[in-house]
Amino acid sequence: MVKQYQDELSTALRAVRLAARICRSVQAKTAQFVEKKDESPVTVADFASQAVVCRELAAIFPEDPIIAEESSAVLLERGGAETVADVLAELKAAGVDANREQLCEWIDRGRNRQYADRFWALDPIDGTKGFLRREQYAISLALIEQGELRLAVLCCPNLPVREEATSAGSLFYAVRGQGSFVQPLDREEAPEPVRVSSIETGADACLCESVESGHTAQELAAEIARRLGLKCPPLRLDSQAKYAVVARGEADLYLRLPTRADYREKIWDHAGGVLLVEEAGGQVTDVTGQPLDFSQGRKLQQNRGVVAT
Ligand code: AMP
Ligand code: MG
Repeated sequence: MVKQYQDELSTALRAVRLAARICRSVQAKTAQFVEKKDESPVTVADFASQAVVCRELAAIFPEDPIIAEESSAVLLERGGAETVADVLAELKAAGVDANREQLCEWIDRGRNRQYADRFWALDPIDGTKGFLRREQYAISLALIEQGELRLAVLCCPNLPVREEATSAGSLFYAVRGQGSFVQPLDREEAPEPVRVSSIETGADACLCESVESGHTAQELAAEIARRLGLKCPPLRLDSQAKYAVVARGEADLYLRLPTRADYREKIWDHAGGVLLVEEAGGQVTDVTGQPLDFSQGRKLQQNRGVVAT
């Protein structure tokens, strides 16, 4: 049988690899950022990553809308000429020549807000705070058709490919019905399947959660862990690297418990990670047990928080 989504997969892997190369280059040099209106940080790498991923997707799938986190308006207003020049220099170093207009056009390919029958969701750098701390961050890209996650690529440049591996850099991917896989970011090695742990529930389970207490109710999670009798302290990681460690069985549970009643999760913060866990044999719902609904535009409007097991 012919495997579906192979063109989409090879394009997404190529795009995300290129973005990861740029993110690493930026991370090696600087920890500078500008603040968005909501006071969250954004860096040269966020803009450059979104630009190259949107450019690669546009070249092969020009009709596909993209819903992504960043915009050229923020780049121009908050970042200004200096940030634009830095982004263009990073693109050039990665072999992509562009001017300011092209850069803005690529970034704004991700400015879609509306649901479509087929679209991509992109977080060019998920966990920007982790990126700035030189800890975990991810580049997350997913394809959604008829509201269903079909394909996911999740790159974690600072996550070792295996728990025992010393050099960092993991590239995970999943296609609906075809399983979840990981390969090293830096070496040509055959992808290996990943599976969630087979633990039922109980004292041996390990919980992971956000580093940021503003993004998840850590005290409530601690109370849940106490009632479940978990022995392991919570594993705190930035970004969708949490989905990756659940997908490969290093953690058993990822809780994202709302800290504010009015917050709605953004689709790009979850789409890639969710399919990775599901295709690795796991389950993902919101905190009320409802499936995550990716047909609501930019936000998971119908859901509250996340539970991945
Ligand atoms: P994490 O690395 O798991 O802490 O998640 C980072 C993401 O949290 C960012 O990309 C933001 O979109 C998202 N975020 C921002 N504010 C909140 C909030 N109040 N609750 C949940 N997630 C948030
Ligand atoms: Mg994010």
